[in-house]
Order: sequence, then structure tokens, then C-alpha cells
Amino acid sequence: MRSVLDAHLEAARREVQDPEFRALRAWKEAAPGRACVGFFPVYAPQEVIHAAGALPVAIYGGGDAIEVEQADARMQSFICSISRSTLELGLSGRLGFLDGMLFSSLCDVARNLSGVWQRNFPGMFCEYLHYPQNLHSAGAAEYYRNHLRDLAERIASRTGRSVTEESLVRSLDLYEEQRRLLRRLAAVRREEPWRLSLEELLVLVRAAGLRDPAEHNAVLEEVLQELPRREGKPLDGVRVVLEGSFCEQPPLELLRTLDDAHCFVVESDLARGLRWYRGPLQRSGDPWQDLVRGWFEDAEPCVARHKDPAERSARLVERVRESGADGVLFCIAKFCEPAFYDFVLHKRALEAAGIPYLEVEFEEKMATFDSLRTQAETFVESILFFAEELRA
Ligand code: SF4
Repeated sequence: MRSVLDAHLEAARREVQDPEFRALRAWKEAAPGRACVGFFPVYAPQEVIHAAGALPVAIYGGGDAIEVEQADARMQSFICSISRSTLELGLSGRLGFLDGMLFSSLCDVARNLSGVWQRNFPGMFCEYLHYPQNLHSAGAAEYYRNHLRDLAERIASRTGRSVTEESLVRSLDLYEEQRRLLRRLAAVRREEPWRLSLEELLVLVRAAGLRDPAEHNAVLEEVLQELPRREGKPLDGVRVVLEGSFCEQPPLELLRTLDDAHCFVVESDLARGLRWYRGPLQRSGDPWQDLVRGWFEDAEPCVARHKDPAERSARLVERVRESGADGVLFCIAKFCEPAFYDFVLHKRALEAAGIPYLEVEFEEKMATFDSLRTQAETFVESILFFAEELRA
């Protein structure tokens, strides 16, 4: 008989891989007045969208489930897959259930995609969020606070709601609880990777961007209750931190291939925007202030949020130490300039710290994973060999 855990994992995998967003459409139609606002990675203030009366929906492209046909006429072919397949989702009508779409100051591709989007969907509410990039500027915090309030008002004017401090606190509570549960899930993977595969972890994280937060929190609670009872035994292999997949997400088969090669990812930046903070947000009673401070002080260093690049590299080394990892796997989307830029900086820091690393590239429609498997297995063997040499 199928267990509760298996049922939750299957449902999450189905929703994450469904380019028609059937579950979300059904959710929206189930009650009058429901609204959905999509957001392109990496980060969006989900609490603000939610408090304004819309469900924030993380749009991570079409994966390998759709053919990119119409979008190719509007964008170059030498850019990342997620931007092309996201536009294809829109042009093919699959995102027709959305009441709006948000893009943000992430990279040139995301910026251009926002412009292409506005030209192709003139009737759709579309916002471009300019996040503060100079985190040391005196006016940045006030600017960001006003930007968030403005976003809330624009969405609320479409949903017919009004955003109060009370409604924002309620939304903040829901998403804080969700991030707390996702951190507990990540801890299971870090401490006992055989209990929860990397693919399973990712589908549960990504489902958080596709569901009502209260409903998904209940699912996560049940999953966390069931996992300790799951059969499984520790396997030999190496532990790695996966870096570079903060925006476009690797195919699920790639993640399965890593587990099969006993290259166990125990910490990662997969779907970073849905796990934006290092730990609980500091709460002050002023939810706007809490979100602003969160951006400046509590977010995990990420190329989507500029600060000192050395801070990002230092934090990567720290994450390797904290998670007891043996090395770093850079898993970077083809043509993703921000990730490749960081790779150059990070590898210097890793070399200085004596941490081995491997770099692989992926795209949404990868035909074969044999080469990746060979690279991962060789990486694992080289780490195990050197560990053996050190012991001898
Ligand atoms: S995958 Fe990289 S290049 Fe493409 S939109 Fe995301 S950050 Fe930009």
C-alpha cells in the first residue's frame, strides 16, 4: 500500500513537472476571488504578494516538458533555457491563469525577459522589482521599504484587498513557518542523506512555490513526521555542497544521477529564492522593517543580492565546513553568466582552503547523463583516494 510519504512525494513531483499547472488552476477555481501572481527567480517577497491577496507562484520555466517553438522567434538561442521556456509557457497560454508576473534585477537576461514580456502581454500586470544593489548606501533601506509598499499597493489594487500591517504579519508568519520546515527537511538530507533523496528534497522545496503556504506547511509537517520511520541504510560516498543552481533548476534526472554516483549533495543553493534566509527572520513588530532587514542582513549570500563578492566565497567555504562536506559541485546552467562569474571567484577561495571541486553544466533538455555520471564518479573516487592516502 502506498504510504502517506510516498503520496506526498508523488504529488509534489507531479506538480513540479506539470507545465499546465493543473493543481494551481484547480486551486484558483475552487473559490471565487482567488488570484495568482507569478515570479521569475531568484527571489520575490512572497509575503507581500500573499498579504496583497494573491498566491505567489514560482515560475521555474518549462523544464523538459515543453518544446520551445514560439519563444525562439523573440529571444536569442544562446541564452539560458529557463528564460526561453518561461516565455514559451506564456506564449503558449499555459500561464493564462496568472493575474500578474514579477521579474527582478537579477541579470541582463531577466531584465530583457521582463521587457519582452511586457510587449507580448500588454494586458497583464507585470512589474520589474529593482532590489537594492548597493547595500552600504544610506538610502537603500528606505528605498527598498517604499518599493515593497508600492508593490503591495499595486497588487492589492488588482485583487481588491488592502494590505495592513496585520495581514502582512500573518503572511510573514506563514512563510517563516514554511522556511523553518524547509530548513528541517534540509537538515534531514544533510544528516541522513539516504533517508531523503536529493530529487525528493527539491520537489518538496519547489512545491512550496506552487501551493497555498498553509496547505504545503501541513504537508511538510507530515513528511517530517514520516521520514524517521523510513527504511534505509547509510551508503558509502562523498558529501558535497552543490552551488550555482540558484535560478534555473537542474533536471530531476541529473539529481538522481548524482545520488546514483554516491555524490551526496548535503547542502545546496537549489531554488535559493524559496529558501532565502540563513535562519529565522528577526521580528520587530514592524513587518516591513523585518523584510527590509531580512534583505540586508539575513539573506544567504547570493549573486542575486549584491554585496561583497568575497562574502559569497567566504560563506561557501563556511557552508562546506558546517555541512561536513568533502567538496563542492558547481552545477551551472548553460549560458548563466552570474553563476559562471561567481564560479571564477569561488574556485580561488576553494583552492586556498584546499577544498576539491568539480564544475558541470546543465540545461533543461539534456539528452544524456552518462558523461555527468562518469564525471561525478571520478570526482567521488578521487576524493576517496586522497582521503585514503592521508590516512595511510
Ligand atoms: S539562469 Fe542565469 S542567466 Fe538565466 S535568468 Fe537565471 S541568473 Fe540570469
